[in-house]
Amino acid sequence: MRLLLVEDDIHLANGLRESLRHEGCSADVVFNGYDGLTAIQSGDFDIVILDLGLPDIDGLSVLKKAKQINKALPVLILTARDGIESKVQGLDLGADDYLAKPFEPAELFARLRVASRRVNQAQSSLLQCGEVTMDTSAHSVTLNDGLLSLPRKEYMLLKALLENQGRVQSKQQLENKLYQWGEEVGSNTIEVHIHHLRKKFPSDFIKTLRGIGYVVGKR
Ligand code: CA
Repeated sequence: MRLLLVEDDIHLANGLRESLRHEGCSADVVFNGYDGLTAIQSGDFDIVILDLGLPDIDGLSVLKKAKQINKALPVLILTARDGIESKVQGLDLGADDYLAKPFEPAELFARLRVASRRVNQAQSSLLQCGEVTMDTSAHSVTLNDGLLSLPRKEYMLLKALLENQGRVQSKQQLENKLYQWGEEVGSNTIEVHIHHLRKKFPSDFIKTLRGIGYVVGKR
């Protein structure tokens, strides 16, 4: 896996590069947003780790431009511990995950493993998370091998969550997906359907991160 790390804290950046090397990942490091965008434009990276507090361009602007350059490129953002607003903005701009500073390298590696599993799973028609399996070609969902019948919007929301296992989906992101699929979306559509979905699965299957969004699977 080839990584790009955009982080202006030179000490942290070099430490992470070393730890990543021990994990068998090679990381290119740049120390500002401008160099980050240049690297994304020219490089062939599997994932970008992006600090939001950068000296030249705001990290969220870098994220937005990065997604314009390559929409499919996974981006994990690094945020301040209390920056709920920037987490939500980041997710709405297409960030795939976030990690609050300070964090342990082990936590970062776990997130990177989730991201690489997701890239691999995107090629299969089977989405699996614990006891729940969705077959997107057969349009079926099973829980512990028992077939579940889900209304259309619930199926779509579950699909969006399963496709993004371990990655928090904001309410806005889920609303956008329903819009894209031609569904009508009212002000509390997401809450209502998530509530119905929850009742059909084990209680901890869909987790709510208050004020941020929803997630299935390990984070
Ligand atoms: Ca910084």
